[in-house]
Amino acid sequence: MHTVNHLENTPDNDGYFGQFGGRFVPEPLIPILEEITRAYYQLREEEGFRQELADLYRHYVGRPSPVFHAKKLSAAVGGGQIYFKREDLNHTGAHKINHCLGEALLAKKMGKKKLIAETGAGQHGVALATAAALLGLECDIYMGEVDCEKEHPNVIRMKILGANVIPVGDGLRTLKEAVDAAFLAYVQDPVTQFYAIGSVVGPHPFPMMVRDFQQVVGEEAREQFQQMTGKLPDNLVACVGGGSNAIGLFTAFLNDEEINIYGVEPSGLSFKTGEHAATLTLGTPGMIHGFKCYVLQDEKGMPLPVYSIASGLDYPGVGPQHSYLKDIGRVQYETINDTEALDAFFMLSREEGIIPALESAHAVAYAVKLASQLEVGKTILVNLSGRGDKDIDYVVAKYGHRYGIN
Ligand SMILES: *Cc1c(COP(=O)(O)O)cnc(C)c1O
Repeated sequence: MHTVNHLENTPDNDGYFGQFGGRFVPEPLIPILEEITRAYYQLREEEGFRQELADLYRHYVGRPSPVFHAKKLSAAVGGGQIYFKREDLNHTGAHKINHCLGEALLAKKMGKKKLIAETGAGQHGVALATAAALLGLECDIYMGEVDCEKEHPNVIRMKILGANVIPVGDGLRTLKEAVDAAFLAYVQDPVTQFYAIGSVVGPHPFPMMVRDFQQVVGEEAREQFQQMTGKLPDNLVACVGGGSNAIGLFTAFLNDEEINIYGVEPSGLSFKTGEHAATLTLGTPGMIHGFKCYVLQDEKGMPLPVYSIASGLDYPGVGPQHSYLKDIGRVQYETINDTEALDAFFMLSREEGIIPALESAHAVAYAVKLASQLEVGKTILVNLSGRGDKDIDYVVAKYGHRYGIN
């Protein structure tokens, strides 16, 4: 039987997954990105580098994270059996530490002195500041002034960890302006600084590199699930912002054509412009932040405003590999709205004693929907990308009354 190997085919030497990806940056950055690509290809073949990262995953992050059979939730839904890959149990509470450690270790091996990044809600900033502290690198995090105020606890965390948080006061003072400011600072000195991208987005080699660092999630889960059940899962589900936690789970299973794979995007308040971030569902091929992908864009190719109750999901672009997987039909991309995500947030908390991140709650909500349509013997493996501690104050203040909390 002929099976297509989606992994070996992508990306090509120029960083393309089908028509998506590539490298669209100012001329002076090309040699820098080429140097990073070369260093990465070399290091990933070195036993020493692989071992060092594996040791950090095991002894610092707490890997392998468990796979948990949510029997009570599954029974409440009545249908397929739901399993969670518990990335919420990692040090710092989400999957982001996996790629932040990988990028920080690469930067250190390349002799870089400082990590630089933007952050929206502050989750990427905190994970990167953690990796910088551990590996002895300086860390500058650019954050819009509005986000600094909204996400004050994360600003404090980053400062405690020794990072410099640089508030950005331009324009709408949120994520987009922070990206611009971080990029400008990076271009000033790309030799001693390393721009650590927070998802499977950006110019080549970042979508590939971040994917490789997240791949451990699916590799572990595949083995754990087989040990627990004697089989592979019938379905996979993960939420998609930029797409790193999703591709991290999916990669180990892409060649198992009998497994159905679902990526879940936020449809927010509605499908009206500015009220969702369903990029793969409603976007069109375009360009954003140095690469080609599906983009929510206007007629001139400018990114449209996006929204989700889960700030980690509101990005108007998406990883190039997801764009490709959508086009070849290997992954199905579905949507979950704010209300469905909130219901799932409380349902998982109350059925299993696990408070999920609002981002992850989108995956939980879709899994619940899917499970209700499956026979009891069928299984769903969900990437529970993060814990919900960061979201509880907001959820209770705004929606607590709906769920009996005042
Ligand atoms: C940032 C974040 C996401 C979204 O990012 P991806 O790159 O799409 O994984 C999802 N879940 C949690 C908990 C996050 O912090």
